[in-house]
Amino acid sequence: MQIVSSIAAMQRLAKKWQRAGTRIGFVPTMGYLHAGHLSLVKRARQAVGKNGKVVVSIYVNPTQFAPTEDLSKYPRDLKRDLKLLRELKVDAVFTPSDAEMYSNKSQNAFSTYVAEEKLSQTMEGASRPTHFRGVTTIVAKLFNIILPDVAVFGQKDFQQAAIIKRMVTDLNFPVKIIVAPTLREHDGLAMSSRNKYLTGDLRRQATILWRAIQKTQAAVKKAKSISAAKQKADLKKLIESEPDAKLDYVEFFDPETLSPVSKISHGAQIALAVFIGKTRLIDNAKL
Ligand code: AMP
Repeated sequence: MQIVSSIAAMQRLAKKWQRAGTRIGFVPTMGYLHAGHLSLVKRARQAVGKNGKVVVSIYVNPTQFAPTEDLSKYPRDLKRDLKLLRELKVDAVFTPSDAEMYSNKSQNAFSTYVAEEKLSQTMEGASRPTHFRGVTTIVAKLFNIILPDVAVFGQKDFQQAAIIKRMVTDLNFPVKIIVAPTLREHDGLAMSSRNKYLTGDLRRQATILWRAIQKTQAAVKKAKSISAAKQKADLKKLIESEPDAKLDYVEFFDPETLSPVSKISHGAQIALAVFIGKTRLIDNAKL
């Protein structure tokens, strides 16, 4: 497994593979890997086959964090991550530094961003206004460095996947986007690097996101069509019955357009963000 931290070296390697007709599968991550990440790596291998190359990036991208967020505290364990990726026979891991990715930023000279302007306005985009601009910018940069034929993203970040797909279509990136299912702990909590922050009773309280989703799934199954406004009010009450839980948002929307729906029926998507203590968790599911 090659560990590459320079952009020039990664591009050289990718171009060499490309010239040889080797398919490249790519999984972007911020590291502190869990089984959810590893399932994306396996999906990438499946997509490019044993003769293809799988590249994983590990980079905590500062432009997708607001100044008030957990950038400096974001969990990291590169040694463990590399061990896990080696076991999966990943071909290359791209681990650039901030100076490498935003070389001119200290001189305030980095000034080109990629921004999706429609799908990114609601939910995560409304709560974290600069977040998706950071995501689309870094993913566009990574696509230009790693030159993937296929890239795998998780459904866990449903809105992010929709925005990346739109960016790829709008800007004609020659890459196929695969969206892979969310892996969960036994009690339903979606796997996340941030789950590390959930100490003591917070870990139990964090299952409230999955319980809220399941309650809504059961309600839709029973009533066929329910009022989004009423369901939002009911879920806020349910979620905030946990002592350290605070609802940021819950939304019901069309999974293709991300447009909110006022009546929830089978096939609609639910997404929510909840603070459990200081940790902000997100989850989503089809209803
Ligand atoms: P992150 O390291 O949080 O930026 O996530 C990297 C990729 O892993 C993204 O495409 C996420 O959607 C995906 N991912 C995160 N958590 C999960 C999970 N529990 N199951 C599947 N994919 C996930």
